[in-house]
Amino acid sequence: MIPFNKPCTIGNEETAIKEALKFSKLSGNGPFGKKCTDWLENRLACEKALLTPSCTAALEMTALLTELGKGDEVIMPSYTFVSTANAFAIRGAWIRFVDITPDTLNIDPKKIEEAITERTKAIVVVHYAGIACDMDAIMDIAYHYGLWVIEDAAQALLSTYKGKPLGSIGHFGTISFHETKNYTCGEGGALIINDSSAVERAEILQEKGTNRSQFKKGMVDKYTWRDIGSSFLLSDLNAAYLYVQLQHADSINDNRKHSWSKYEEALRTLDPISLPYAPDNCEHNAHMFYIKTKNETERDQLINYLKENDIMAVSHYVPLHTSQAGEKYGRFIGKDNYTTAESSRLLRLPLYYGIGEEAIEHVVNTVHLFYKA
Ligand SMILES: *Cc1c(COP(=O)(O)O)cnc(C)c1O
Repeated sequence: MIPFNKPCTIGNEETAIKEALKFSKLSGNGPFGKKCTDWLENRLACEKALLTPSCTAALEMTALLTELGKGDEVIMPSYTFVSTANAFAIRGAWIRFVDITPDTLNIDPKKIEEAITERTKAIVVVHYAGIACDMDAIMDIAYHYGLWVIEDAAQALLSTYKGKPLGSIGHFGTISFHETKNYTCGEGGALIINDSSAVERAEILQEKGTNRSQFKKGMVDKYTWRDIGSSFLLSDLNAAYLYVQLQHADSINDNRKHSWSKYEEALRTLDPISLPYAPDNCEHNAHMFYIKTKNETERDQLINYLKENDIMAVSHYVPLHTSQAGEKYGRFIGKDNYTTAESSRLLRLPLYYGIGEEAIEHVVNTVHLFYKA
């Protein structure tokens, strides 16, 4: 069976974990955590990176940092993972879902403007499949209306927009190191802070609302409760695992891109399906290879056919506005031209670090056979 995903392992993770055990400093913001945040700050050229237990937790931190709550509205795509919305719904904010564009499946900037009201405080964009949103248009709108921009870059580490790393363009970016993402430590994430005025408060929120991080830097002689907060920290054991993957990030990226291109070349000529699209100025990280079939019936038939041939292919998001919680915590604004239609015909093919060329050949041959039949 060719699995849909295999969590990335490079080989040296165990050594790094043993080293972390030697430091005997296993809580958050430890020696390996520092190496990871230095790496992120360097690669993303951001003000500050903080490791979090997940991308979900990083998103929750952005809801606290922007002080979003009851009576405030947030605009985001409906075609995304639950955490994008949950992080704001949990604070009492109201979600205004808008449509995506059919080419990248990212939020449509034109639809953002139509959804803005006096209560709108933030735009949360999702770089689907590691392919960038139209950030110039989005930042222009945000600037014009005075809105926060949060990039859910869960899938987008090492992708760029006009040369700028994704996650480093809005006020905040959030990254995931879940095992389904390109670089992982099982469960983990990062908050990317691009607004220097938010750094101090973010460090306090991360440490249960205390100024422990200032204490550790020797800036104060004891630490106390300063603000609301939570335990938004990643254990140094996870950070040790993660650091190995970050050190090999470029070769992991190359390997994935090679596999992605193999799929692209082999399926490009297959008329009945459409393939992912990345705008010219957007370098992506080969997070995902999806195809879009004619309709949902054909998609489900193809998933079954692949399964019969030992290949795991899967659909993706159920549009949030159609879900039970989505109906309770938000509303779709404007017409759903693409969100439901595109999600119902999308399927993702197996893609992970180290998937062999033979596996990819088997997948593309099977897809071709399906359409010949
Ligand atoms: C994976 C993912 C998340 C959640 O990441 P966790 O680290 O599991 O919390 C959030 N948003 C998007 C777009 C994702 O793909």
